[in-house]
Amino acid sequence: MGEFELIRHFFAAAPCAQGGEGVALGIGDDCALLAVPLGEQLAISTDTLVAGVHFADPCDPFLLGQRSLAVAVSDLAAMGATPVAFTLALTLPTVTADWLDAFARGLNVMAQSCGVALVGGDTTRGPLSLTLTVFGRVPAALALTRSGALPGDLLCVGGELGNAAGALPLVLGQRSAGEAIADPLLRHYWSPQPQLALGQALRGKATSALDISDGLLADCGHIALASKVGLRIELNRLPLSEALVAFLGEKGAQDAALSGGDDYVLAFTLPPVELAQLLADGWPVHVVGHVVSGQGVVLLDADGQDITPQTRGYQHFRETP
Ligand code: ADP
Ligand code: MG
Repeated sequence: MGEFELIRHFFAAAPCAQGGEGVALGIGDDCALLAVPLGEQLAISTDTLVAGVHFADPCDPFLLGQRSLAVAVSDLAAMGATPVAFTLALTLPTVTADWLDAFARGLNVMAQSCGVALVGGDTTRGPLSLTLTVFGRVPAALALTRSGALPGDLLCVGGELGNAAGALPLVLGQRSAGEAIADPLLRHYWSPQPQLALGQALRGKATSALDISDGLLADCGHIALASKVGLRIELNRLPLSEALVAFLGEKGAQDAALSGGDDYVLAFTLPPVELAQLLADGWPVHVVGHVVSGQGVVLLDADGQDITPQTRGYQHFRETP
């Protein structure tokens, strides 16, 4: 199958490539055209996933399609943006119809659940990697950035932490577990649900936000740096799933939440006055700490002792000590 036939069959013909709100022109021309409503801004983010680095190789192509889009759309959630469109640059070692069919189905499922349209891409031969660029819209000046946290704000997260990191030994076949444990962990790893509705609900309320991709400690470091504040995280407030604690024990679960990757749960800072209404409206808001003046992220135990670990999240180009 040639490049153009492949694009037509698996991508241009896919349900998620048939346009949508804000898509003036989709796949097939030199560029796609997006319409941005007056008073709104375009939020744009790119993510690359490399086989063997960001996902096991080989892996289930349906799950890969789902997960790669979820990871990309999660950045829109973190900005409080509404998804509009995405592009897909796909590099493949060989063309296998079965693989592409399953991959495109996974992509479609996540695209439809996030309300985002495939509007273009590129298809090349080489070691398996995927680059997805997502486009969203957000009312001007209401995007949630990393830089607005203020001393006195609460530090919150939008759900349980560490489940995806807990799933990793299962994904890599290093460990096994019964269904009651494996299912919820693997579901979180393979089909994380970008917290789009929560991000939008936090517009005009949260003072900063991001999606946790590299573990709570490392990602909170980004908020601390950008906002020029200090963050205090309380260990005994971390929301941990029963499955994760059963699989890794209390300490292991805490480590996964603090330093494991791939959660794609929102972390945000919130003036205390906003908390009650968000909870009353049913939003999943878990207070895990607070913002202080100063700099850096400190982890506190139940007695208020500083127990900040040295190692944090995963970094691609970290120098070995
Ligand atoms: P060009 O050479 O002008 O960059 P291409 O031949 O690479 O165009 O692609 C033709 C059309 O198909 C373009 O609209 C492009 O955005 C789209 N396209 C290519 N690869 C993909 C893909 N993997 N997924 C979705 N659209 C794609
Ligand atoms: Mg091209």
